[in-house]
Amino acid sequence: MHEKCGVVGIALQDRDAARPLYYSLYALQHRGQESAGIVTHDGFQQHSHVEMGLVGDVFDPDDLASLNGSNGIGHVRYPTAGSVDSCCAQPFSVSFKSGSLGLSHNGNLVNADEIRDELANFGHAFTSDGDTEVIAHDLARNLLEADLVRAVKRTMSRIHGSYALTISHDDTVMGVRDPEGNRPLCIGKLDDGYVLTSESAAIDTLDGELIRDVKPGELVVLHDDGTGFDSYQLVEQENTAHCFFEHVYFARPDSTIDDNLVYEVRRELGRKLWDESGVDSDVVLPVPDSGRAFASGYAEAAQESGADIEFAEGLMKNRYVGRTFIMPTQDERERAVRLKLNPIKSTIEGKTVTIIDDSIVRGTTSTQLIELLKDAGAEEVHVRIGAPAIISPCYMGIDMATRDELIAADRSIEEIRDKIQADSLSYLSVEAIAQSLDKGQDELCLGCVTGEYPYDIEGEETDRDVDRPVIGDQTMEADD
Ligand code: SF4
Repeated sequence: MHEKCGVVGIALQDRDAARPLYYSLYALQHRGQESAGIVTHDGFQQHSHVEMGLVGDVFDPDDLASLNGSNGIGHVRYPTAGSVDSCCAQPFSVSFKSGSLGLSHNGNLVNADEIRDELANFGHAFTSDGDTEVIAHDLARNLLEADLVRAVKRTMSRIHGSYALTISHDDTVMGVRDPEGNRPLCIGKLDDGYVLTSESAAIDTLDGELIRDVKPGELVVLHDDGTGFDSYQLVEQENTAHCFFEHVYFARPDSTIDDNLVYEVRRELGRKLWDESGVDSDVVLPVPDSGRAFASGYAEAAQESGADIEFAEGLMKNRYVGRTFIMPTQDERERAVRLKLNPIKSTIEGKTVTIIDDSIVRGTTSTQLIELLKDAGAEEVHVRIGAPAIISPCYMGIDMATRDELIAADRSIEEIRDKIQADSLSYLSVEAIAQSLDKGQDELCLGCVTGEYPYDIEGEETDRDVDRPVIGDQTMEADD
C-alpha cells in the first residue's frame, strides 16, 4: 500500500513560517516520500519551493531563507492521482486575477475528470493530470465571483471524493476536510500561531497543542496575524466515512486522529485479535514496524487469559530499505522483503510462532516472511492480521493494488493460507474495527474490505445514499 500525502498550513504572529513548515513535513514524511514542497506568502508575494525527493534533500538553508512570510502551507506526496513526476508535486501554486493560490491535497477526487473537462471548455489550461490542479482552478474561478468562504463552499459542492486540503489565498491560510471526513486534518495551537496538519504528531514536533480535529465539511480559516481562527461548517452530512486504515497502518502511532490515539487503537485491535482468533504458540512476533502495537496488545490479552505465550522482537528491520510497496515490479518487491527483514534465530528455532501484521495486500511479504521464519527453524508459523481482508481497491487516495493483484479479492481465507504457506491464518472482523475506534460502521469508510464505498464511484457499490454532483451546471445561487 502506498501512503498518500501529508499536508500542513501555518499562520504565525511575527516570524517566518518556513522552518516550522519544514519541521512539520519531517514529522509527516511517512505519509509521502516522492516529493516535498512549501509555499509561503509575505503579504506582497507568494514564494514556492517544491521538488522531488525526501524533505531533508529537497530543502537547504538557502531554500528555507528564501521562503519569506509568516504564513504558508506544505506538502509531502506519494502520487495517487496524476503522474509520478515533478509536474504533480505539491503544493500546487498559481497566480490569477484575484490573487495567488496554493493548494496541498491529501485524498483523491472521483469526479476530477468531469470538472477538468468542464473548466477546459471555459478556457482553463492545465499543466498536470492531477486532481489538485482541478480543485485549484475551480476555486480560482469561483474566487472571481465570490468571497473566500462562498468560493470554497461552491467548490466543495462540485468536487466528490476524499480531500483534506490546506490552502493559501495570498497570506490567508485555511484547511478544509471533505464532508465525510475521509482523510484526517487537525488544528493545533503554537505559542505564536496556529497550525493545520494531517497528523497531531506534527503539532507535537512544533511544541504545540492539539486543539481538535477539523470536522467533516468544515472550513477553518487561520487569522493572517496568527492570533486565532474562524470556523465555517460549510456542508453537513449525516454520516462520516473516516478511513479506518489510518489507524491500522498509515498514521504514526503517536498521532491522535478523530479522537483516538493511534497506538492505543492498534493495541486494542491486537487484544481483539486474540479474543477472536487467538492461537496457542510459543512466541508471538510483530512484523515491524506497524505490527508492534498489535502484537503487544495480542500478547497482553493472551497472557491475561492464562496462555503461556512469549512476546519477542524476532524480526529485525533494515531501516535503510524503502517501503516494499514502493518497488515497482514483483521481482523487486520480493527482493526487498529479504533485504528489509531478518529473523533472530534464537527466538524462533524449534518454536511455534505467531506473526502479527496489519494487512496482507498482494501476499508477497507474508509468503516471504513465512519462508524466512521456517528457514530460521520455526516449527509452525501462524498468521494473525489486525484488519479484515482487503478485497477491493481504494479510490480515495491509497494506492493499494488493483483488484487483480489483491490476494484476497477472489480467494477464501483457506486459499490464502494455502498460498502463503501459513499453518493458520485469521483476520480481524469489521465489528472489532468499529468497536476499537468507538464508532459505528456507518461512520467509517470500509470500502476496501467490504467492496461498498462511501462515494458514488463508477462501477462500484455504495454503502450509503450518495450521488456525485452534476457538473456543467454552474450557478451562483447554489452558494446560499
Ligand atoms: S477504501 Fe480502505 S484504504 Fe481507502 S479510504 Fe476506505 S478504508 Fe481507507
